[in-house]
Amino acid sequence: QEDLRATLLEINKLAASYFYYQLKNPQGELGYKYLRDRELSDDTIVRFGLGYSNKTSDDLYRFLKGKGYDDAILKQTGLVTIEERGTYDKFWNRVMFPIMDVNNRVIGFGGRVMGTGEPKYLNSPETKLFDKSRNLYGLNYARLSREKYILICEGYMDVIAMHQAGFTNAVASLGTAFTLQHAQLLKRYTDKVILTYDSDGAGIKAALRAIPILKEVGMSIRVLNMQPYKDPDDFIKNLGADAFQERIKEARNSFLYEIDVLKKDYKMDDPEQKTAFYNQVAKKLLEFPEALERENYLEAVSREFFINYEDLKRLVNRLGASL
Ligand code: ATP
Ligand code: MN
Ligand code: MN
Ligand code: MN
Repeated sequence: QEDLRATLLEINKLAASYFYYQLKNPQGELGYKYLRDRELSDDTIVRFGLGYSNKTSDDLYRFLKGKGYDDAILKQTGLVTIEERGTYDKFWNRVMFPIMDVNNRVIGFGGRVMGTGEPKYLNSPETKLFDKSRNLYGLNYARLSREKYILICEGYMDVIAMHQAGFTNAVASLGTAFTLQHAQLLKRYTDKVILTYDSDGAGIKAALRAIPILKEVGMSIRVLNMQPYKDPDDFIKNLGADAFQERIKEARNSFLYEIDVLKKDYKMDDPEQKTAFYNQVAKKLLEFPEALERENYLEAVSREFFINYEDLKRLVNRLGASL
């Protein structure tokens, strides 16, 4: 079993360097151009080991066969599909992102189409090495950062753009939902996180799902305001690193962020909906069992959302008593 893992790691490492060297071949020129067009420097390309998978459908397979690996083991890497009809590389004409664990070992890959096409990103399947719910992209570097907090984002390009801009404490959960195992993994390195998910509906949903999971491990959580941009890559490209640093400083307490999102469901000029909103806020304040902490949030919420403090307090106490 350990032998198998070691062999799979060896093959992944070979594949990563194979993809990387394709960038320098005539075939890979388009891949290199794509990455440079997205404003990645040569240093960044090297640091993240980015690469390119050829248009030929079994290039990698033949390369790995040439290194002496048999089909049975190659199948288990998730890098090739072996069928009676033939053998195909999983990744084909894509820019490649090796996924490293905290010890810099390549455990899987992501590949992006250059330009438009479906699926936009293709990821390695789960293998003996690659468990999506237990690995965070970029953590191998983020764990070495001197910042006291970690930035959590959605995608490969976001992590890379942030690192390139100097925010080397960024990680991504790569399209999979953020899990308790992710939170526990992060907790080994920090007790403060800032969510930098996409500003679209999916990103907001992802943040709302991640917050209670991060709370469960006792994380202090803030949420960065990405507006008017889509994601960290987009933001940094448009406004630069200093503006992003400002947004980090201004990042909002996750509880207040949750109330912000909640508020969007109610029309405040309708008394009935406004009352319903206040009730929801009061109910949410009951999440804090500790009197002092609840009091502090009560104060902050009434201030930020212009709710009369005494009225809100009465509502909270009444709801709390009836539980
Ligand atoms: P880009 O900037 O290259 O367009 P992105 O990271 O902004 O990419 P999103 O669509 O916001 O792309 O998706 C966020 C992350 O979700 C991606 O980085 C990728 O890890 C994952 N993802 C996106 N689309 C897919 C897909 N079709 N299949 C699997 N994972 C995906
Ligand atoms: Mn998205
Ligand atoms: Mn995005
Ligand atoms: Mn993007």
